[in-house]
Amino acid sequence: MTGRLLTLPAALALVAVSASCRVDRSPLNVVVVTLDTTRADRLTPYGYLDASMPALERLAREGAVFQRAYTIVPLTLPAHTSLFTGLSPVSHGVHDNADAALDGQFDTLAEVLRGSGYQTAAFVASAVLDPDRGLAQGFDRYQDTGVTELGRHRSQRRGDEVINDAIAWLEHADQRPFLLWTHLYDAHQPYEPPEPFASQIGNRYIAEIAFADAQLHRLLDALDRRGLAGRTVVVVLADHGESLGERGERDHGIFLYDNVLQIPLLIRAPGVAASRITAIARIIDVMPTILELTGQPARHGDGRSLSPLMRGGDDHREAYAESLYPRRIGWSALASVRDDRFKFIEAPKPELYDLDNDPFELNNIAGARAATVEAMRRRLEAIASASTAASTPAPVSKELRERLAALGYTTSSGAGTARNRDLPDPKDCIAAMAAAALDDTARTHARMPCR
Ligand SMILES: [Zn+2]
Repeated sequence: MTGRLLTLPAALALVAVSASCRVDRSPLNVVVVTLDTTRADRLTPYGYLDASMPALERLAREGAVFQRAYTIVPLTLPAHTSLFTGLSPVSHGVHDNADAALDGQFDTLAEVLRGSGYQTAAFVASAVLDPDRGLAQGFDRYQDTGVTELGRHRSQRRGDEVINDAIAWLEHADQRPFLLWTHLYDAHQPYEPPEPFASQIGNRYIAEIAFADAQLHRLLDALDRRGLAGRTVVVVLADHGESLGERGERDHGIFLYDNVLQIPLLIRAPGVAASRITAIARIIDVMPTILELTGQPARHGDGRSLSPLMRGGDDHREAYAESLYPRRIGWSALASVRDDRFKFIEAPKPELYDLDNDPFELNNIAGARAATVEAMRRRLEAIASASTAASTPAPVSKELRERLAALGYTTSSGAGTARNRDLPDPKDCIAAMAAAALDDTARTHARMPCR
């Protein structure tokens, strides 16, 4: 038998192992990459076949792929605000790109991690996420889109610039754990993919995504080169998808169908096995997941950690979503809730889809399933009344209105946030927007005609 006493070299080896274990228990780094306007079903790890996306494919091999992940608002600012607070817009009050910035009373992921000794940096690519829009809270460095050679504020910038800055920051980061957020806006309109992607891929939207993937690849390489990959939680997700003309919607922001609500979500982390997860995951669940993976105490919020799912457990959620933006142009707001089988969209003409039998939401069965409609409407009202904050939109300044108009977003100050059934149903009006979209300046009109 080997006996219980250790030889001296064995004991020293054990001490060395304990010491290295102690080092390994230092908090994990966190990298969050948001791919703006990126539909899950246009990515190769989600079954898209007509392109190559090596970085996303690598993450899918090395981490958890959430096959049914959903955003909560199909607009950049509210979606990112929910991502970084773990709160529904009903709670944090940012429903629209033109709403008042996130109030300082709310704790962001960056504030929580910085409070635990993390260094924090963000590199964003759209003026929608300018530092005064609320998400700079908690970041030591928050790099916005910058200015042109003529000194004008830029509305957006390319992903290679964003990643250049992020890698340069990484090279000079100190030994403390870090939170790094990079935002890639390339897949947003207008689709202007750089070469060689434009020539290699016929579809300009897909080419933009492939370009963003190449930038993600550079970031993952930078983590590898610095020996950080095994000590870093990497979370890649979209803020929302893109309609690509389906149902008459050119891009995103009005409707709540899955072409804009379903998002890619991939999480690679030490100790997390590669897996495909089919349970519902929500953008509000990402912050609690990161806090759990980094050993932070759980916090009160609207989301909950996805870790049980990544450990192979079962955990059912319902997913809320809303679009109040249509009210700003004189149409009814929309809200939706889904469970494992049904999705209900509250609208002047309500919609119910049986996702098991109708995954593309083509057959509205609201008229035939009155009891299910009523039950889901009550769930929606319960979620909407669970507000933890007054959400009165502040007037939109002229300067902000101009910034958003440059990105194609209509704003009108003073629009309320309540759903209003006296207003027309967006599905009856979308053709008017499609016509107006032919002329981008028309989109800056405060009200959009219906029909
Ligand atoms: Zn966006």
